Amino acid sequence: MKKCVVALLLAVFTGFCVAVSLCVNVLSSQTVFAGDNVFKIVVDAGHGGIDGGVSGVNTGVKESDLNLEIALKLCERLQSFGFETALTRKTKEGLYDTTAKGFKKRDMAKRKEIIEEESPALLLSVHQNYYPSSSQRGGQIFYLKGDDADEKLAACLQTRLNALYEKEGVKARKYMPAEYFILSCAPCPAALIECGFLSSPKDEKLLCSEAFLDRLVSSVCDGVTDYLFSQA
Ligand SMILES: [Zn+2]
Repeated sequence: MKKCVVALLLAVFTGFCVAVSLCVNVLSSQTVFAGDNVFKIVVDAGHGGIDGGVSGVNTGVKESDLNLEIALKLCERLQSFGFETALTRKTKEGLYDTTAKGFKKRDMAKRKEIIEEESPALLLSVHQNYYPSSSQRGGQIFYLKGDDADEKLAACLQTRLNALYEKEGVKARKYMPAEYFILSCAPCPAALIECGFLSSPKDEKLLCSEAFLDRLVSSVCDGVTDYLFSQA
């Protein structure tokens, strides 16, 4: 990363601290507090183990692997912004005990248990999209239907993802309501991030690029700080 970009990020982060201190306390330049607790964000890497999710149309890359790679990068970037982070899934394995019938239900129950234990201030669930037509492209945010805070978070994240993909010639997408179980697990604002379409060879190529993933996690972090600014 170029030094000027780092300086800019630090400047943005300092401004962010000042603004957010109206609703959360910032006790150092490196740590963001919500009340007496460090502002914790749980990052959920969707799928895992025998549940690979969708696959890349050209490379066959598994959604579950990509989700984990992005979730790890996202945690690292959020930590550099002063947030505490926790993961639901830390390895390529799923969160079920055995692959016997009902493993998906047990996997989701374990995610819920982890989220409740961590008691985060924000939840971000990472996924990849797939559509029968390869023409569909871009990132898309889903939020829990009827939840105002989730919708505001979704709007902030979608704006940043649209800006990211606009540079790749992709037209803006709209964030959408949904009734996903993972979103209903969160005792806090939550968003499900579809990072791109693995059914699109062009999105797939981007998502297999380290440089694009770095830009993607930056966009998500910016969306998170935009949301917190809007609440200050
Ligand atoms: Zn998925």
